[in-house]
Amino acid sequence: MDKNTVTQRIRERLDAGTLPRAIPPLTTEPGRPTTPTGHIKADTGIAVVRCAACDEPGAQVAYRFPDGRILRFHGRCHRIWEGECERSSA
Ligand SMILES: [Zn+2]
Repeated sequence: MDKNTVTQRIRERLDAGTLPRAIPPLTTEPGRPTTPTGHIKADTGIAVVRCAACDEPGAQVAYRFPDGRILRFHGRCHRIWEGECERSSA
């Protein structure tokens, strides 16, 4: 799936509310101003999990939100989603 197609899907899901529109707000933790409240970790057990952005299996990263919700993405799709969130919140 090409990047433009993934980007379009992500935009549609942001509009529909399927994907959160904004990266969780940055923390105010001293000395770590750029650390998001959500966190990303590699998880080798999710190789067959569908990506929240493009629906293809093989999601590689899990993104956990402060409310406990977990979204899984391909590394590439995660970056696209992040970029779209930044665009839409600017
Ligand atoms: Zn994907």
